[in-house]
This record gives sequence, C-alpha cells and structure tokens, in this order.
Amino acid sequence: MSFFDKVKETANSAVQTTGDFIEVAKLNLEVRSTEDKINASFAKIGKLVFASYEKGKVKDAEMVELCEAVKTSFATIEVLRTKIMELRNKKACVSCKAELNDSDAFCNKCGAMQPEPVTEADVSAAEEAEDAKAEEKAEK
Ligand SMILES: [Zn+2]
Repeated sequence: MSFFDKVKETANSAVQTTGDFIEVAKLNLEVRSTEDKINASFAKIGKLVFASYEKGKVKDAEMVELCEAVKTSFATIEVLRTKIMELRNKKACVSCKAELNDSDAFCNKCGAMQPEPVTEADVSAAEEAEDAKAEEKAEK
C-alpha cells in the first residue's frame, strides 16, 4: 500500500467513523427509549401485583415481602407528610386528604366535617377529668 493509499484509507475510515458515531448515537437513543417502555411496564406490573396483594391474593413469599416494603414506605410518606403539614400549621382532610388550615372545621374541597383540633387546654382538661374520677374512686 502506497503512502497515498494509506492517507485515502485513513480519510475514508474517518468519514465512516463519523457516520457510525451518529448511527450508534441513534441506536443508543432507541435502546434508552425502549428501556423506558420496559420500566413503565414493570411499574404497571408492580402496581397490579400490589393491588392483588391488598386484596390478599398474593401468596408468593418474595412478592409478599416486596409488597410489605411498599406498604411500609407508603406509611412512612404519610407520617412525613403529616409532620410537614404540622410544621406549616396545616392538616389533611379526614376524607379526601386535601390540605386544610388547622382551624378549618370543614374541608373546602369535599365539605367533610373535620374533627376539632386537640389543643393543650383539651389535654389538660381531659387529665383533670381523669384525676377527678380517680379521686372519686379513692373516696368510695
Ligand atoms: Zn376533603
């Protein structure tokens, strides 16, 4: 191979490399979007299995364990959201879970009546009532 042939071949492979590079990038993009589709389907399968688990239809031990982990995570989120609302002087509607002000007696979304907020005065009144009962019993 002559020097010029070598130069020509190198130039050709450089062109081919650029073309390949674009093709590889396209194919990688297609792989990623197909993987996204698979993951979306996996998520759907997971939600279906979890729905079956909640109906008591899942018996496989490994599946049950995974579903219990999801359930625990849901409970954790609930606790965290409650803490966040408390810090913001908000509460969740007892019916639809809409965010309400602590003082709201009714939900402004679904209209459900909210339980009266428990104040420190309520707690000490309840304690005093308990004490009075205990004293009454002691006197008898
Ligand atoms: Zn509501």
